[in-house]
Amino acid sequence: MTTAEKKIARLEVVEPKRLEFGKKWDYAPAPESTEHIKIQSRYELFIGGKFVSPKSGNYFKSINPATEEILTEVAEANEADVNLAVKAARTAYEKYWSKLPGSERAKYIFRIARQLQEKAREFAIIETMDGGKPIKESRDVDIPLAVAHFFYYAGWADKLDYAFPGRKTRPLGVAGQVIPWNFPLLMAAWKIAPALACGNTVVLKPAETTPLTALHLAQIIQEADLPPGVVNIVTGFGKTGAAIVNHPDVDKVAFTGSTEVGKIIQRAVAGTKKKLTLELGGKAANIVFDDAPIDQAIEGIINGIYFNQGHVCCAGSRLLVQESILDLVVRKLKDRIQTLRVGDPLDKNTDIGAINSSDQLKKIKELVQIGIDEGCKIHQSTCKLPERGFWFPPTFFTGVAQSNRIAQEEIFGPVLSILTFRTPEEAVEKANNTAYGLSAGVWTDKGSKIFKISSQLKAGVIWANTFNKFDPSSPFGGYKESGFGREGGLQGLMPYVQLI
Ligand code: ADP
Repeated sequence: MTTAEKKIARLEVVEPKRLEFGKKWDYAPAPESTEHIKIQSRYELFIGGKFVSPKSGNYFKSINPATEEILTEVAEANEADVNLAVKAARTAYEKYWSKLPGSERAKYIFRIARQLQEKAREFAIIETMDGGKPIKESRDVDIPLAVAHFFYYAGWADKLDYAFPGRKTRPLGVAGQVIPWNFPLLMAAWKIAPALACGNTVVLKPAETTPLTALHLAQIIQEADLPPGVVNIVTGFGKTGAAIVNHPDVDKVAFTGSTEVGKIIQRAVAGTKKKLTLELGGKAANIVFDDAPIDQAIEGIINGIYFNQGHVCCAGSRLLVQESILDLVVRKLKDRIQTLRVGDPLDKNTDIGAINSSDQLKKIKELVQIGIDEGCKIHQSTCKLPERGFWFPPTFFTGVAQSNRIAQEEIFGPVLSILTFRTPEEAVEKANNTAYGLSAGVWTDKGSKIFKISSQLKAGVIWANTFNKFDPSSPFGGYKESGFGREGGLQGLMPYVQLI
């Protein structure tokens, strides 16, 4: 028997009987209270330090995807509104922000971080109500990380000379930033914090389905007394985003979203003076070798795809399992997805919340149907789904070939495709066989194998014996169709400065 075989045999022995999960007991409901949360009946645009009505005169509804209730209405910015926002950002850049020493900019960014931290609970609840993600994710991951990014980049504001030794830095000017719905506040922090630290001013557009935390951040920015126009937040759909990207007075475009829109943006800025960073889709491979700590790997797989409803562009949506342990992994995964609690995102025990929008749910269902039609075998939790709202049960497919669409296309739902491999070379080849290259995971007992495999994987971020771990000091970003440029860390300053 090889060591790996002995380990499998041992695991089989300690698990003589499978539990009938979910049938014996359940958690009592533990809903987070929303009583003290103030969601306004209407939100305006944040331009030049003030909340102003849109020139367009239009508002759109923002709903809670877990209940389909209308939460509020939000201003829709048109080109005239974007013009005003860019103008305010330009004035703020020239009059105040670019003239302030880094140590003064840092004070403002610290102030945002501290106020955000004080209101963390409120932000977590609003994030969950607006986007559908479980409160334990928004409370323990999204909001603390957003705060940490502001603290981290506040620290860099007066140390740019040390970030780029021997060089001087100059800000770029006005940054136009467009973000998606999967980490609404965190993406705003990823974009705003380094831009401000480097001395740029900002026009940011949150996604149309999750604008609320960015608008509450605008309130904090106002309270923190930032010079008017340093940060402007305009809400709207793709057209509003395009108006920012195409505005002639924008110096830098930062976009996180789909590869499809990323390509449109890349074409739009080609031949202009605008600097560009793109963080686009992903189809991350999570590679599990037969010498891996299996139970930890199962938790990593669950964390990599099911928490967050698979709404993460770096989600470990392709699982590559060494053939000798396939049956064991599949069996453990089947048991584990059955124990995942799907339902009210405001309940502190919920593992999987609501899908962000009906459109998103439709896309997930279509791709899952394609998986079934192409002959892959579906395994799904039998959990009961709430009647209202947008839901999808944790699902995985076995018998998946590399050519199947579920192994190639981003699904953005709690859906995992399992493929197998026999040798490390095959694992690397399959992991790299995608148009994307955002992230990957490697699970093995051997450090040497981790180094060897990770140096061959074409992905911007590689986790070893863990998954989906973020830190403000560590850069994030992709290769190939996952985009270019890095956010986070020292590298995250680079897109916002000119080196002289
Ligand atoms: P996702 O599939 O993650 O929703 P999208 O790329 O559709 O990603 O959207 C991400 C962000 O880009 C959203 O804020 C959206 O409103 C915005 N957006 C959509 N189309 C365009 C466009 N043509 N130009 C600029 N921004 C856009």
